[in-house]
Amino acid sequence: MEIILASNNVGKIREFNELFASLDITVRPQSDFNVEDADECGLSFIENAIIKARHAAKKSGMAAIADDSGIVVPYLKGAPGIHSARYSPVKEEKANNLLLLKNLEGVADKDRAAFFISVLAFVRYAEDPTPLIAEGRIYGRILTEERGSQGFGYDPLFLIDGLDKSMAELELVQKNQISHRAKALANMRDQLKFVVRKPVSNE
Ligand code: IMP
Repeated sequence: MEIILASNNVGKIREFNELFASLDITVRPQSDFNVEDADECGLSFIENAIIKARHAAKKSGMAAIADDSGIVVPYLKGAPGIHSARYSPVKEEKANNLLLLKNLEGVADKDRAAFFISVLAFVRYAEDPTPLIAEGRIYGRILTEERGSQGFGYDPLFLIDGLDKSMAELELVQKNQISHRAKALANMRDQLKFVVRKPVSNE
């Protein structure tokens, strides 16, 4: 089965294909089908993931999967949230991190709790009334300065609960075992098993 992925991120496509290989599912980027990015006008990760998946399915006529992810700080009323990639006016990683630090300046440790979240949505066709949804989270808190040089985005600012390490101090293989995205992908794989399974005969 071929599924269109509502993203052109090479790293994501590789990650999805690795995880879904055992299900005989191949994921292809939306650029292969000349599908442009959808307008992410939802208020939540789930809404945006569904919007992106429906858009890709509509434009391609294929089953589609999309993901939406980010970092949430309850003390900041959920910010950066769905705006994680474009939190600062320049929409750039370093500036996003500096703004997050600035907005938490002087804030006590107990109020610096945060989590990364990844939401995946799968639709069989554009109007699918029963999209499959999978969510993964990892909890931690926001440091007062960057730590570590691996990863991307907010990783250097995120101290993982139960580990004295920031996300940017983990090797990629370690991150991929515990990350929000890994959890969401594993959950989606469990659900997709039932979509690709051959129909059972009643005879
Ligand atoms: P997207 O869902 O790939 O568009 O990601 C949204 C934004 O959330 C990214 O640009 C990052 O700023 C942030 N983000 C999502 N996942 C991670 C992660 O694993 N580490 C660091 N930042 C992340």
